[in-house]
Amino acid sequence: MKELLFALAGNQNSGKTTLFNRLTGSNQHVGNFPGVTVEKKEGAVKKHPEATVVDLPGIYSLSPYTSEEIVTRDFVLNEHPAGIINIVDATNIERNLYLSLQLIELGIPMVIALNMMDEVRASGNSINIPRLSQELGVPVVPISAGKNEGIDELIETALRTARENRRPLKYDFCDGEVHKAIHAIAHIVTDQAAEAELPLRFAATKLVEGDEPTLAKLRLDEDQVHIIDHIVEDMEHELGTDREAALADMRYSFIEKACALCVTRHQETREQVRSEKIDRVLTSKVWGIPIFIGIMFFIFWVTFTLLGEPLQNLMDEGIGLLQNAVGSLMERAQISDWLQRLVIDGIFAGVGSVLSFLPIIVLLFFFLSLLEDSGYMARVAFVMDKLLRKIGLSGRSFVPMLIGFGCSVPAIMSARTLSSERDRKVTILLTPFMSCSAKLPIYGMIIMAFFPTHRALVMISVYIIGILVAILSGLILSRTVFRGNPVPFVMELPAYRIPAPKSVLLLMWEKAKDFIRRAFTIIFVASIVIWFLQSFDLRLNMVADSADSILAMIGSFIAPIFAPLGFGDWRASTALITGVTAKETVVSTLTVLTGAATDAQLSQALAAIFTPLSAFSFLVFTVLYMPCVAAFAASRRELGSWKGAILTALYQTGAAYVTALIVYQIGSLILR
Ligand code: GDP
Ligand code: MG
Repeated sequence: MKELLFALAGNQNSGKTTLFNRLTGSNQHVGNFPGVTVEKKEGAVKKHPEATVVDLPGIYSLSPYTSEEIVTRDFVLNEHPAGIINIVDATNIERNLYLSLQLIELGIPMVIALNMMDEVRASGNSINIPRLSQELGVPVVPISAGKNEGIDELIETALRTARENRRPLKYDFCDGEVHKAIHAIAHIVTDQAAEAELPLRFAATKLVEGDEPTLAKLRLDEDQVHIIDHIVEDMEHELGTDREAALADMRYSFIEKACALCVTRHQETREQVRSEKIDRVLTSKVWGIPIFIGIMFFIFWVTFTLLGEPLQNLMDEGIGLLQNAVGSLMERAQISDWLQRLVIDGIFAGVGSVLSFLPIIVLLFFFLSLLEDSGYMARVAFVMDKLLRKIGLSGRSFVPMLIGFGCSVPAIMSARTLSSERDRKVTILLTPFMSCSAKLPIYGMIIMAFFPTHRALVMISVYIIGILVAILSGLILSRTVFRGNPVPFVMELPAYRIPAPKSVLLLMWEKAKDFIRRAFTIIFVASIVIWFLQSFDLRLNMVADSADSILAMIGSFIAPIFAPLGFGDWRASTALITGVTAKETVVSTLTVLTGAATDAQLSQALAAIFTPLSAFSFLVFTVLYMPCVAAFAASRRELGSWKGAILTALYQTGAAYVTALIVYQIGSLILR
């Protein structure tokens, strides 16, 4: 039997991933937050191994404005799927059909899966399916992906439509001036469209809309471009609107007519009524932000204090036990000394200190997936949009920033939900400025030594400096390197829903797996390298005092760079280097290098390296400079290139340098 490829396309949050999981029996993450599926995923249809479905990112239109739209569009245009399964949220049918009309123009066999029929039914509304199918010229199958209803029939219909190559029966949804323009242009570009392998109708409509990629692909000659411009100008003139509005208008008036014929709506669905009630409180001008802050405090408290700390300690102890066991085992096996030290001081110390963060990561993602699946996170993004827009970001960037106060790694990973590449890049760059929890031990150490009486003040000022630098960077970057506007915030507020336990557990498991894998790859390697550098000298002799090590050499070599910031001591710069493996390492490195055995000794030793002012400048630098390797690796993966990740780290370190320099120099002037 011939292989069949299906594209699963639909609006964000229409239940695409839920349907994909039903069709393929796989376990992709379902979230009640628009934009969760950014990459495309594929799987074989259950019981029909010859058919493959590809879950495409959610989109509202086939115009190439966002990276999701481009992914989806390129896929259907270039991969020539045998069929399209267009999922339509029946509780939001008008807006969803806007995409359907554009998909129909592609002339690919297509089935509409009318989803969320359970909610439509529960509210006493109804949709005349045969009539809708007739109006649109494609088969329509009512389903409920959530309740697993109608899936078999959908599969049957999709397979039949694709095998028999049944193309949409009509694609002419237009009339009047738009109709004239589309047809005239279709005439002109018939040959080129065939040559470029673009569906003619799609090409013509996109030319009327002024779609650049289509224009480029068609390779029209000058005369043709000229005539097309003329036709479009005429149309705009006759209608008194611009080209894009004219087409949107045409589509919506068709949809309106069709829905008037097919949809009987007595009342809003129960979910919509409930959502409106909840929203009156949660997104209210007065209560919205206080409630949100309250919820976040609660989550951070539970994650980091109530459960996180004991679990992290438990994890630490477990790792410690294992470390001792391995240590004595190696002792008995008389394994050479350097190898023992590599395993214990290098690998166990490095990988172990990172692994101990596992409980916190899992907990944080547990809460975040609850917030996301319930639909609350979408409201928060909505409330924050206005503020973030001022620094060139959109409301969606808020979520990663917030997670950044916990840990940059999941924060950078969550930037994936941003639709535009520009927004994603800026967010990944700014997120590490939010002081993460791994930096807390550093603050603790410096405060203990220099500011025991101004604890809170120093803490708060460090956090605020991070936020201020992020705001300033946002302002500068969105006017220079990342020019352009954040994508308009078209996010539909999804209905509040009870999170599905399976989906929450699945997400936690995914994150845990990801994190553990990273600990045993990049951090594993980094730990070995650092250990090597601090244990050997250039002639590869093992050193007794780490002051003679290669690491110390590098430290002293770069130490002068930090002299203008007030801390030109080689031990400080070495700690900053090792801090890149994990920020807590700054503390352990300073402890090892000063040979301090107790906290009091450490404070004393630090007083020889720093003055209170240079200690504060050091703090400022540690908050801002490039994040740890785990976060760096995450940003490399999310940015998709080494170059992007390295430039990002350089910017962050540069910002840290400049800020610490200003703090130290101005501070010296004042204190003189
Ligand atoms: P996607 O963004 O299009 O991939 O949508 P998801 O599959 O992530 O689903 C969005 C939300 O709709 C989730 O909260 C699902 O649980 C919910 N959902 C999906 N299908 C149905 C359905 O048929 N009925 C109901 N009531 N909810 C559904
Ligand atoms: Mg999805």
